[in-house]
Amino acid sequence: MERISEPRAFCHALAQAALQGTPITQEQALRVLTDATIPLLTLLEAAFEVRKHHFGLGVRVHILNNVQNGLCPEDCTYCAQSTSSAGQVPVYRLKSDETIVEEARRAHESGAFRYCLVLSGRGPGEERLDHLASLVTRLKATFPMEVCLSAGFIDRTQAERLKQAGLDRYNHNLNTSEARYGSICHTHTYADRVATLEAARAVGLEVCSGLIIGMGEGPEEVVEVALTLNRLDARSIPVNFYVHAPGAQLGEQRRLTPDACLRALCLFRFLNPSAEIRAAGGREANLRALESLALYPANSLFAEGYLNTGGHSADKTMQMIADAGFTVEQVETHD
Ligand code: SF4
Repeated sequence: MERISEPRAFCHALAQAALQGTPITQEQALRVLTDATIPLLTLLEAAFEVRKHHFGLGVRVHILNNVQNGLCPEDCTYCAQSTSSAGQVPVYRLKSDETIVEEARRAHESGAFRYCLVLSGRGPGEERLDHLASLVTRLKATFPMEVCLSAGFIDRTQAERLKQAGLDRYNHNLNTSEARYGSICHTHTYADRVATLEAARAVGLEVCSGLIIGMGEGPEEVVEVALTLNRLDARSIPVNFYVHAPGAQLGEQRRLTPDACLRALCLFRFLNPSAEIRAAGGREANLRALESLALYPANSLFAEGYLNTGGHSADKTMQMIADAGFTVEQVETHD
């Protein structure tokens, strides 16, 4: 993409480059995050053009189910589920299949496009993996919803087993830049995380991976993660906005502004034009009154809260989507 200084022309060129698959330079990507002379609405309008091309006005609503919580031996400093944290989160082993299926029914009835099963912990052993695989098969056979699993590190053999069980997508977030990773976790590496994503992708699972903005990183690092996720062909990118979890090792951070959050969502749309971009954890607390503007770059949201923090109910989320002139997308069924 050529060098353009005038903000409106620059935003228009960004949208055209994203639509045509023309690379956007690092400098141009950085400008999206840092150039205050670019009006936010101009940027959102350009990102919306790309979003609309790939997803129309549809919004995919995801509902998370924390099917196993707490007692995690990893020490991710932002997470209250780590045994290294002083957080007082509910602690439980894997919920029963009946409970998970019943909760999936409620998610489906609430309009969920995708049901995300999330387990704390480093990764599943063989017995646990077999159990999860049979659960995935049952959920897929029972509800017309996509199923995503987030169960920590897996290798290629385990990924293959989940793919055969009918899993649509595997989630494993990069969370931050490679250089910063060692400061937010000491029990595994960024490379470990990339290896799991590569294993999932190698067997044909869709990859879901995102980050948490607001843990002290610079704009260059946000750009780096967006480019890495493009290279890893992440089809789904949850863009989380940091909220301090009480008890987590990583304390309060400098507060994000709604403007910064929205610019980041636009960046991810320009650099990953056809990916499902999700305004994910922390959207309510960080976007505040501008929450519905996230739907211009993003085409996906969570409802009913996050792993251990609350969020808007499904009803409230659906109302916001309708009020903003967007529509809730459902999984197509083929009888
Ligand atoms: S983010 Fe996941 S791996 Fe890290 S401590 Fe929390 S539950 Fe464990």
